[in-house]
Amino acid sequence: MIKYIAYCRKSTDEKDKQVLSIEAQISELKEFAKRENLTVTEFITEAKTAKVPGREQFAEVLKRIEKGQANGILSWHPDRLARNSIDGGKIIYLLDTGKLLDLKFPSFWFESTPQGKFMLNIAFGQSKYYVDNLSENVKRGNRQKLRNGVWPSKAPYGYINNPKTRGIDIDPELSKVVRKAFQLFAEGGKSFVEIAIFLHKFGIKKLDGKPVKVDQVKNMLTNKFYLGIMKYAREYYQGSHKTFISKKLFDEVQKQVEKIERPRQKGHNFAFAGLATCGECGAAITAEQHIKKYKNGTGQTFIYYRCTKKLKPCDQKYISEPNTEAQLRKTVRDCGLHEGWEPYFEKWIIKAEEKDKFTAEVETKQLNDQVQETEIKLNRLLDGYLDQVIEPEIYKQKKNELFDEKLKLEEKKSQIEKNGNVWLEPMRGFVNCALQAQKVARAENNCHDLSVVAKKVGSNFFLKDRRLSVTLDFPFAALSAEGGAASAAPNPLSISKIVTVPGLEPGTFPM
Ligand SMILES: [Zn+2]
Repeated sequence: MIKYIAYCRKSTDEKDKQVLSIEAQISELKEFAKRENLTVTEFITEAKTAKVPGREQFAEVLKRIEKGQANGILSWHPDRLARNSIDGGKIIYLLDTGKLLDLKFPSFWFESTPQGKFMLNIAFGQSKYYVDNLSENVKRGNRQKLRNGVWPSKAPYGYINNPKTRGIDIDPELSKVVRKAFQLFAEGGKSFVEIAIFLHKFGIKKLDGKPVKVDQVKNMLTNKFYLGIMKYAREYYQGSHKTFISKKLFDEVQKQVEKIERPRQKGHNFAFAGLATCGECGAAITAEQHIKKYKNGTGQTFIYYRCTKKLKPCDQKYISEPNTEAQLRKTVRDCGLHEGWEPYFEKWIIKAEEKDKFTAEVETKQLNDQVQETEIKLNRLLDGYLDQVIEPEIYKQKKNELFDEKLKLEEKKSQIEKNGNVWLEPMRGFVNCALQAQKVARAENNCHDLSVVAKKVGSNFFLKDRRLSVTLDFPFAALSAEGGAASAAPNPLSISKIVTVPGLEPGTFPM
């Protein structure tokens, strides 16, 4: 009498709906065994893929057959038993040696004859072929696409998969929505949720119509795909798709993302919370609120800032919010630029731009040479890899390094092409920020704006003995050194003092 072990398998990676669940396989096999009058000694189930050898339960089945505890296997289909040549070979071997007398499948007819084994081999082989084919085709297609600079997956927001060319095109409408979202977020003070709501309002949503999740917003805002760089399976590829987000805008967005990602002080929304640290002990400065009640029933709110004293004992006293505000306002005011200065700086920038055009051409040529050099290196590396003198791991790492290098060069090149030179944009940014600083310093009841601008002009804010100190960024430090002269309307004296142009004597400013 043949004793059968029933083996059922379904792996979690099998999306195929035609593959029955383990429960369904068991009930099908029971019914089949009853109909065929088969003696089943036990049911063994496994939830692992058969694409690769190494299934414990399957090994158990083989072991029992080796030991003679059973001499038949019952399974739904040969592909449940084996989808790789090693496991398939073991089954065939057991049949050849006579330890395995029979196999039964409700969905596949098998008899232990040379012809039957041949058919079984094909069944195993077909399963294997099917698996190989599926994953190889996907892999091969993806690799080829990535090499051609084409994203092999679903298009990111603002892009659309073109079914005709199989490439990625800019979606004329949604790209505008995405760009607007980037711009909104770059301005600062926006949360991921607000961006999700904005996207939802203009047609970017999940399949179920709900706003996209916070993580997806973050992924979108940090996805280098928008710069033309594709990251796939932890490797970078140069994309061939057109972009609609500038490097500058993207970088601004990254700064805001970092701000949000940094752990924030919980609870209240104090304007200057998290701005400074204690100048004595280095602990964080926290804020608290006190409400003073008067006899007539009214009350007044006072806000204080003080050292948390969490690191070590510290003698620092609290500072009131108005005092903090006044000091910060002066700092910001001194970094300000009166709007009367704007044309001076604009002319200066234009002049500098012309001068730089020539330099840019020279630099671009140099960068081109460097890019070419990197490409030669990449080719050499590939040759070494194909000749098997370079280990795959080292190849991968080196390739990524060289790719990074190449990307950086390409980035530099495109920046020079777009902006004339890399520092003119920061220069414009500086002027705009200084103009904003002047306005914010003059306005009232705007502690939050004050805090935002303060963080733009400087860093390392310290509070000690009720004095606020700051390290100003270079151009702002220069402005501030003039004691806020530029935050007033320009006159000839202040012009000669504040504006110097490289290669020109102070005061001989191009008007
Ligand atoms: Zn302290």
